[in-house]
Amino acid sequence: MSDKNATETILADAQGIARAAAILERGGLVAVPTETVYGLAARADSTEAVAKIYAAKGRPDFNPLIVHVRDAKQADQFVEMPDAAKTLATEHWPGPLTLVLPLRDNAGLAPAVSAGLPTLAVRAPSHPVMQRLLAKVDFPLAAPSANRSGFISPTTAEHVLTSLDGRIDMVLDGGATANGLESTIVAIRSDGSLEELRPGPISLESTNRARDAQIEAPGQLASHYAPDKAVRLNAGEVAPGDFMIGFGPIGGDCTLSATGDLSEAAARLYYCLHLGAASDKPRIAIAPVPDEGIGRAINDRLRRAATPPG
Ligand code: AMP
Ligand code: MG
Repeated sequence: MSDKNATETILADAQGIARAAAILERGGLVAVPTETVYGLAARADSTEAVAKIYAAKGRPDFNPLIVHVRDAKQADQFVEMPDAAKTLATEHWPGPLTLVLPLRDNAGLAPAVSAGLPTLAVRAPSHPVMQRLLAKVDFPLAAPSANRSGFISPTTAEHVLTSLDGRIDMVLDGGATANGLESTIVAIRSDGSLEELRPGPISLESTNRARDAQIEAPGQLASHYAPDKAVRLNAGEVAPGDFMIGFGPIGGDCTLSATGDLSEAAARLYYCLHLGAASDKPRIAIAPVPDEGIGRAINDRLRRAATPPG
């Protein structure tokens, strides 16, 4: 697509979803709301379609994608599902939990989806728009976050356009996303143990946390989700030139949650970061957020946002 053609935003009603399905069928790219952030979807069984995701995002080819499926039964066509996986799927699907499992030899997916790894990340999303879309098509959808690589993840259709306008075929507008943070990623090892590769909306007991610097899940790259200005964490007060993002009693130009509610803070994190990035202030400062429950995932994203690329 040429940059001159602005990307269409279409309301995610029955007609819009049918159009999205048709675009995906012929190998196009559609940004779709999920319960986490907007995903940039393409059919996962097409090498050409998956290549378009990497090109549109400017995503490094070693960074694998999450494949979205209707349910555990469909996932089972592509990955091996040991008992631990079936149990987690029963408990948390549809929902914001991604499982990394051994890829089946005959999965029939584009090799680039898993960046050549012997494992595949799969998830059954709960957002009704994504579910209707998955029900309409007869292939799974590869969908990373719908932003240029290294930019802030999108929680609204408008956010998608800030970095991908003219680079993708269409945005299905289903309003602001509910969780606001990317899914929790858990790998299930051959001995049945669980390893958390990325914290997210779902906190599992009995997972080992991945060691730092593991490139297996490039959402773990030290710098990720970063706006292109300096970001200061744990800021107790505003300094001149700061776009202040508040939490609890510490106010600001945008507050994550005036009442100190961590779920609200997660849902508003990228909204506030997008506002801060677009503001004329040269720096962004962020009040401390407690490192508990989903606060752990918020702080994980904030640390990456505060780390300059490169
Ligand atoms: P995004 O959808 O942009 O949040 O990115 C997808 C995330 O899933 C990245 O952090 C990937 O590293 C992770 N991921 C995808 N496939 C795998 C895999 N096979 N093993 C480990 N992590 C994966
Ligand atoms: Mg992303």
